This record gives sequence, C-alpha cells and structure tokens, in this order.
Amino acid sequence: MHIIVCIKQVPDSTQVKVDPKTGTLIRAGVPSILNPYDHFALEKALEIKAKTGAKVTVLSMGPQQAVAVLRLALALGADEGVLLSSRAFAGSDTWATAYALATAVKHIGSFDLVLCGQMAIDGDTAQTGPEMAYHLHIPQITFCESIDANGNTVVVKKLIEGGHQILQADLPVLVTMTMPHDYVAKYPSFMAAHKAQDKIIRTWTETDIGADPHKLGLEGSPTRVDRIFPPPTRAKGEVYSGSAVELANKFVEILKKERVIK
Ligand SMILES: Cc1cc2nc3c(=O)[nH]c(=O)nc-3n(C[C@H](O)[C@H](O)[C@H](O)COP(=O)(O)OP(=O)(O)OC[C@H]3O[C@@H](n4cnc5c(N)ncnc54)[C@H](O)[C@@H]3O)c2cc1C
Repeated sequence: MHIIVCIKQVPDSTQVKVDPKTGTLIRAGVPSILNPYDHFALEKALEIKAKTGAKVTVLSMGPQQAVAVLRLALALGADEGVLLSSRAFAGSDTWATAYALATAVKHIGSFDLVLCGQMAIDGDTAQTGPEMAYHLHIPQITFCESIDANGNTVVVKKLIEGGHQILQADLPVLVTMTMPHDYVAKYPSFMAAHKAQDKIIRTWTETDIGADPHKLGLEGSPTRVDRIFPPPTRAKGEVYSGSAVELANKFVEILKKERVIK
C-alpha cells in the first residue's frame, strides 16, 4: 500500500499581521511551520504504516525552503519526500496547485491513498484536496477526524453538522483530514531527525512531472485576488464584575435596553 500525504509549509499564522496600508501580509521574520492539518494527516498515515507496512511519501509544492517540512515529515517516519519547485509554479491558485500536485502524484506512479489536510491555515480555502481528487479521477471524502485502512479499503469518521458519519471506501481514494480540538502534534526525537538527513528528497520541476506549463502559475489560475484586507477593528467590549446574580441582572437590563427582550 502506498500513501501520499500532501504537506504545505505555512507561516505561523499566530504571528502574521496584515499591513493596514497595503493590505498585504507582513511575513518578514515570521517562522514557517508544517500546516497543522497536514501534520495530523501525516501522523494518521504513519499509524497506517505501523499497522500495515505501507509506504508513505510526502509531497509539497513551494519554494526550496519547503524542504524543511519534508525533512520534518521524514524524521517523523515518512519514507520519501518530493518537492515541486520552480518559477512556473509561482502564482498558482488552488486549481493550478491541485493540477500540479495531482500531476506529481501520477508521476510518482502507483498510489492507493492520498491524504491532505482539511485546509491550509494561510490560504484557508480547503479547495486543493477536492480539486486534486477531480484531477486524479478518484473519489474523495473530506473533513475526516480518523482513518483506518487495510489493503483494499479505508474506513473514516467524517465530521458532519451535529455528528459523525462512518464511511467506507475502496482504494484509491483521497481523504482530507481535520484534527480534533485537543490534538497535540508529535515531534521527532533528535536522533530521528538526525537519521532522516539520509532519506531522499527529490525536487521536481514542471518538466520532470510532464505538467502543461499553461495550466500552472498565474496563466493556469482562474482565480484573481481583488483585495486582501483585515476585518474592521471592533469597539472594545465593556467588562462587568459582580456576583452571578448581579451579572445576570445586568445582562437582562442590557438586553432590555437593546430591545432584544421586553
Ligand atoms: C490568485 C491567486 C494567486 C496566488 N499566488 C500565490 C503566489 O504567488 N505564491 C504563493 O505562495 N501562493 C499563492 N497563492 C496561494 C496558493 O494558491 C495557495 O496557497 C494554494 O493554492 C493552496 O491553497 P490553500 O492555501 O487555500 O490550501 P487548502 O486548499 O486550504 O489546502 C488543503 C490541503 O491541500 C494540501 N496543499 C495545499 N497547498 C499545498 C502545497 N503547496 N503543497 C502541498 N500540499 C498542499 C495540504 O494538504 C492542505 O492541507 C495564490 C492564490 C490565489 C487565489
């Protein structure tokens, strides 16, 4: 069984701010991390590997510095890493990104399961996984909190409004993973990180994977970003203190004043 996990390097969003004048992200000095949803998806792939002996390949598209997240994934236990990197990929929207990643998956050759994070915490669109499934002509299951696989099928717990669905699918399939609220990411030991230095990371360009350059970058991207802006700052809220009864009475008083209740 061969599992391909798509992982993206993202800025640590807790530290990114928007320049109010230009509307662009201030990325300078902001550390990059492995997208948390992808970290979770990778851990699930590694659990399947431990159980079934599956091979796990990690795939990322980005600048050369994205090698760092591939190295982290290898240190956690992935077998091989692939980085798609060249100027042709720059400026790709989710559609072009999904085309590039799907073309790379086909180029890797045989695969049974493609795992993605539910979304990247910088782009937040949650489109790349489903669009990859379209390009690969395989079924998809999104928003999964857990996954189990044997040689032929996967069983997933999919989050839906008000509950869960347990679904089973034949392989090949693409699954996007969402993480439980109490998820704490695992990190490799120093020794594991050291040993992973010997594992192979291949860097491929659009020519290596046989991608159509017209379907990549700005030319291959139907989306145009009109404007990026931070949400307007909200007025500071009022803080009240007192006993539970005093606070409840105050709350009722405010609701009446605002004509929410009579
Ligand atoms: C018009 C436009 C122009 C853009 N130009 C640029 C640009 O010049 N430079 C730039 O860096 N970004 C650019 N972007 C952002 C880029 O398109 C997105 O980062 C990318 O398409 C992924 O979308 P997302 O971040 O919303 O990921 P989601 O769709 O939210 O991600 C879902 C999952 O897909 C997988 N995934 C997503 N992206 C990657 C990746 N790169 N490698 C591996 N797995 C991945 C991960 O598993 C992730 O959890 C642009 C976007 C638009 C709309």
